[in-house]
Order: sequence, then C-alpha cells, then structure tokens
Amino acid sequence: MALLSTHTIQNREELSDLAFDLAMQLQSGDIILLSGELGAGKTTLTQFLGKALGVKDLITSPTYTLIGEYQATVNPDITTLIHIDLYRTGEQGNLQPLPLNNDYIQEVLDGSTEQRAVVVIEWAELLNAKQKNRTWNIAIKPGASEDARVITVALDKEKI
Ligand code: ADP
Ligand code: MG
Repeated sequence: MALLSTHTIQNREELSDLAFDLAMQLQSGDIILLSGELGAGKTTLTQFLGKALGVKDLITSPTYTLIGEYQATVNPDITTLIHIDLYRTGEQGNLQPLPLNNDYIQEVLDGSTEQRAVVVIEWAELLNAKQKNRTWNIAIKPGASEDARVITVALDKEKI
C-alpha cells in the first residue's frame, strides 16, 4: 500500500514549496528515491530539500567523493542529509554509472536511522539495494512548459 499524491508545478519556486512541505514530513532514517530523466530536476529538488532541512553548503552531484554528506540544522531529529547520485554526468552530457559498491549503499541505507540522516538517491531506477526504512518514491516528469513538471510522491504506508 502506498500513499500517493501528484503535483503539477509550474516553476522552480513551486518545486521549492513542494520540497519544504516534504521536508516537514521527513523523519530521521527516511530514504528518498528520485527518478526522472537527465534535467528533470532531481538535483534541484535535493538542493531545496537541503535548504528546508537547514543545509548551509551547496549540494552538488557527488563526483570524487561519490556520496555527499551535509550537516542539517533545522530539525533536531535530522542531523545529516546524505546525497547519492548513481550516475555521473560526463563530458557532452553522457551518463556513466558511478563505481559505487552495492553493499556499501546498503550499509548507508541500513544505517540511516542510527545516523539520524535522511538519504536522497538520484537515479533510483539503478538502485539494487533493499529499503528497510520508510521510503519515499518521487518521480519527476516533464510538464506542459519548459519549467513545468509533474511530480508523483508515493510513500510506503506499511513503513510509516
Ligand atoms: P537532474 O538532477 O534531474 O538531472 P537538475 O536538477 O540538475 O536535473 O537540472 C534541472 C534543470 O532544470 C535546472 O537547470 C533547473 O534550474 C531547471 N528547471 C527549470 N524549471 C524547473 C522545475 N520546475 N523544477 C526543477 N528544475 C527546473
Ligand atoms: Mg542530478
């Protein structure tokens, strides 16, 4: 069973509003799986979530470090935002999977509650790990204009 909502947004500001709403519902240990094509807005949504959680640093797509860890300050229950991007965007925009070990990702996911973290994963389509924790599945699709998006948010009800 999943709780499902669909949001049609017109621009980045409305994505920011949605991210702030979502951030208020997050609990430590939550996993957020983002799917959508290149340029859909996965990183942008992650940055807005970071802002809402009090992350001061700019969240960028992990490159050399592979996994980004950011200190969050707004909600005392959530002290860290962990950002994983399963694809690296290379020159000419070609995508390459990051050399991340699946067991390592599994460890990060399984340790998220203990770490008081929320884990955001871009390109969740590629994820091969199991989620024991509460998981949000967020899909971003193109909308009717360049800046519009259709976003579905599904929350696994059994894990609430
Ligand atoms: P992804 O991580 O999915 O590849 P990015 O977040 O890196 O996508 O890029 C999305 C691009 O689209 C950014 O340049 C962003 O400014 C732009 N954009 C325009 N409108 C929106 C919107 N409503 N939501 C998200 N991004 C938008
Ligand atoms: Mg991205």
